[in-house]
Amino acid sequence: MSVLVLGGTAEARDLAGRLLDAGVPVLSSLAGRVQRPRLPAGEVRIGGFGGATGLRAHLVSAGHHAVVDATHPFAAQISAHAALGCATVGVPLLRLQRPGWSTLPGAADWHWVDGHAEAAGVAATLGARPFLTVGRQSLGDFAEALADRDALTRVVDDPGTVPTRWRVLLDRGPFALDAELEVMRQHRSDVLVTKDSGGSYTRPKLDAAAQLGIPVVVVRRPAAPHGVRTVPGVEQAVTWVRSLS
Ligand code: NAP
Repeated sequence: MSVLVLGGTAEARDLAGRLLDAGVPVLSSLAGRVQRPRLPAGEVRIGGFGGATGLRAHLVSAGHHAVVDATHPFAAQISAHAALGCATVGVPLLRLQRPGWSTLPGAADWHWVDGHAEAAGVAATLGARPFLTVGRQSLGDFAEALADRDALTRVVDDPGTVPTRWRVLLDRGPFALDAELEVMRQHRSDVLVTKDSGGSYTRPKLDAAAQLGIPVVVVRRPAAPHGVRTVPGVEQAVTWVRSLS
């Protein structure tokens, strides 16, 4: 049997390695968003499928026996396409989604919002020196509301033009607590903006914000497609795949 792993996350890379070790052929799929992606073991394809129709055509032609959607919790479009495509052609689908941060200590005190534009508005009321950790693709939602702030924005790849007062930090996780404290102290950040990505790679910024007494604005996750079985970890995903053979 061969498994299509929709990736772009640490969990997807881990899963691909674990399945290969178990003798299960895997094709990992990446969107091609970052210039130098961390590649999983095994076969990899890069680039969109061409919408839900293209993904369905791929499933038919490649003959995968199962799909694991291990994409980022905020990659809602590809998850919707996977749910539709797999249901249409009758291929079993599992969603591997790491738990969010809403149960962490202090999470009840964070400013939870439903989208990036709302996050920008709330951040504007909270600080003059925001630390934006929302990803390159979402920065446009912050540009107007925070153009007059001395924002520090951390992204993996060059975001192109940003407001002149903003400073861009090119870096990629995992990030350690000491380093996060240093970044926030140096920048004199007074509000942290993030999305509820979950996981441990980027969590230390939340601990740093708590230590420094900085308010946190968190964008809630988009809704997941209905009716798709979901597991929180790689171990459960491996068990699910093995149960299909
Ligand atoms: P998205 O909005 O859900 O997807 C937009 C389009 O990108 C999809 O319709 C699809 O194009 C293509 N695509 C997305 N993921 C793909 C994959 N794994 N393989 C092939 N095509 C894919 O996705 P996104 O939020 O831009 O995220 C893109 C990728 O970056 C995902 O793989 C995700 O795991 C990773 N990532 C995202 C974030 C985030 O914050 N969103 C953070 C870290 C990593 P077609 O319609 O042409 O098929």
